[in-house]
Amino acid sequence: MKIKWCFCLLIVVGWVSIAHAKLNIVATTPDLGAIAKEIGRDKVEVTSIAKPTEDPHFVDAKPSFIVKLNKADMLIDGGLQLESGWLSPLVQSARNKKILPGTPGCVVASTGILPLEIAATETTRAMGDIHPCGNPHYMLDPANGKIFAAQLCEQLCQIDKENSGYYKENVKNFTQRLDRKLAEWQKAVEPFRGTKVVTYHKTFSYFAQRFNLNVVGELEQKPGIPPSPTHINGLVPMMKNEGVKLIIVEEFRERKTPEFVASQTGAKIVILPIMAGGQKETEDYLSFFDYTIGKIVSALK
Ligand SMILES: [Zn+2]
Repeated sequence: MKIKWCFCLLIVVGWVSIAHAKLNIVATTPDLGAIAKEIGRDKVEVTSIAKPTEDPHFVDAKPSFIVKLNKADMLIDGGLQLESGWLSPLVQSARNKKILPGTPGCVVASTGILPLEIAATETTRAMGDIHPCGNPHYMLDPANGKIFAAQLCEQLCQIDKENSGYYKENVKNFTQRLDRKLAEWQKAVEPFRGTKVVTYHKTFSYFAQRFNLNVVGELEQKPGIPPSPTHINGLVPMMKNEGVKLIIVEEFRERKTPEFVASQTGAKIVILPIMAGGQKETEDYLSFFDYTIGKIVSALK
């Protein structure tokens, strides 16, 4: 009798888990993961490899992610070589055919976007951490987030046809909310059109283009290489000449250099997250922009 009961229970548990089996999605970065949650909602389980507070170029990719990748139904790769330093050994070790390049389970998020700063000449190590296919920080333009969402939805529909109506409805809803918000953000920054800014790294190129800020220099002389005293000595008079109002610094950077440059030039420092999920106010992709735009506007007021 007891055995019979156990057997019945097993069947019920098994049936419930099949009925509620969620797609396992692994995203390389939390901004991509945030959009996967918007489109997949309760049909997906999303894991992001990089932490939102981490420099996405140098991620501490723990071996535990190999297990996640092994069980994944979908991998979202940012593309444009953002993850080139750490992703491919993980994917190779995971030995999962479902997420290999070229399959519907492998989404290259940069597929439909127009990259900025494509290298004009062949790149070498001496040029710093240059990405020959273009600047990989494209998710900082909400219009690119929309392009990625559409791409993701298309591939989700391919691997989970049964729920394609659901994903399409979610992407439509997300796009509508994003469009409304984008108009709001653009209106909020419009009074500061053309404001000259300096950034730590070329993280904010797409952001600046979308919101009409004018990036005139970086604290880094070369991408991925810490600022040198010689470069900073040249940057300070240039910033004074140009009337630079703002230094935009990613949360994970050291503060000494920006503080020194601010003290020499009178420019204000604004510290910004670069991805959703790092704190309560930036939980999802849209609230992330609410927060960053709010920070920029209050710094420039
Ligand atoms: Zn970069």
